[in-house]
Amino acid sequence: MPAPPLHATVLSFEDARRVVEEQATTVHPAGTESAALLAAAGRVLAVAVFADRDIPPFPRSTRDGYAVRSEDLAQLPATLDVIGEIRAGEQLDRIPREIGPGQAASIMTGAPVPAGADAVVMVEYSSQHGERAEITKRVEPGQNVVPRGAEARQGSLLLDRGRRLNEAAIALAASVGKAKLEVYRPPRVAVLTTGDEIVDVGATPSPTQIRNSNSYSLAVQIRQAGGEPVLLPIAPDEPQGLRRLVEDGLKSDLLLMTGGVSMGRYDLVEQVLSEMGAEFFFTGAKIQPGRPVVFGKCGAGKCGAGALARDGALAPQGGAYFFGLPGNPVSTMVTFELFACPMLEALAGQLPRKLAFLHARLKSEIRIKTGLRRFLPAVLSGEFENSEVELVAWQGSGDIAATARANCYVVVPPDREHIAAGEWVAVMPR
Ligand code: AMP
Ligand code: MG
Repeated sequence: MPAPPLHATVLSFEDARRVVEEQATTVHPAGTESAALLAAAGRVLAVAVFADRDIPPFPRSTRDGYAVRSEDLAQLPATLDVIGEIRAGEQLDRIPREIGPGQAASIMTGAPVPAGADAVVMVEYSSQHGERAEITKRVEPGQNVVPRGAEARQGSLLLDRGRRLNEAAIALAASVGKAKLEVYRPPRVAVLTTGDEIVDVGATPSPTQIRNSNSYSLAVQIRQAGGEPVLLPIAPDEPQGLRRLVEDGLKSDLLLMTGGVSMGRYDLVEQVLSEMGAEFFFTGAKIQPGRPVVFGKCGAGKCGAGALARDGALAPQGGAYFFGLPGNPVSTMVTFELFACPMLEALAGQLPRKLAFLHARLKSEIRIKTGLRRFLPAVLSGEFENSEVELVAWQGSGDIAATARANCYVVVPPDREHIAAGEWVAVMPR
């Protein structure tokens, strides 16, 4: 069958990113599973978490000191009768029923403030003599007390589904008694490396062969983004063999290919997918590294979809998305981060988030050609408020060693050909 003509669609970085973000809104995670609280860290919440009671469940003192009626402190020093001591976790029947005029209760951080009292004076502004305390500082009504339910009302939403569970979210779930959480199943992401020159890590390369590193950088990035990598065998630069492996890869939730998307005579990825009836959203983005990046979808009923996968599962309904990432190792890493990541996160059930860069001061000037948005490997350093960033010396987008020395990318807008030392530049951490 002759290949339908391929129309190159090269988008600006922002447009390409928006196209991915748009498509990402159409996909859904594979299913949910229950995870023990700690095992749920880093996963995406599938069932929202609500407050099982008011938080705090009682008016909570935030200081060690005296629970007082603030109006009693109009004249300083004020001497108050101490009618009890309230420790954190104090039993209800041991807490004074009410603090009356001229009275106070000694109270500890985290203890319930009794009725009648409307503030807590820090112990630092007091001295106790027997049953009486002398207070030397005024307090505003409500000072050093968190009212019952001020942080959350019983039944209110605390954690919505679609959020990735970090330490604060896990702490919040723990605080409302969730020993288990319902999380989304990780999407399966197929990784297909192409290239006749590529051999796997265990093999001894001939003098002109290159070891496969892209499958491994991608597998790490896939895991970090919440997916489960499925490494396929290395595909040859030959249409039949490549097509068989592409068909295999399309049975996963997402297919990432590396290599074979440039202008070379043996760059066959687009040709093969085009023959399979794929739809291409873009075939390039005005970035460097990573210009030849390809994003598309193989619709249901085409592309061999509907066939049974090896494990008996059907190909994803409505077709599978794929990325053709350029084979140069740094291009592969950068284009995953910029384009594949949002699609993967959506398949993992995560709510969409915009890509936002940090800023740091440039240590040494940059001179570069205009026309492409650059993502240049760099080292972010400095201390406290003084973050600074410097490019690492590199041999271009094939230089894995330089990229391994870097901890971020400096993002250079396409219209800048010179950035002076000391200027603020955008930084994408990695
Ligand atoms: P390509 O995009 O196929 O033209 O490849 C661009 C460059 O990346 C070539 O120098 C390839 O040898 C190299 N390359 C392609 N795939 C890989 C891989 N999986 N691991 C390491 N290098 C690769
Ligand atoms: Mg190649």
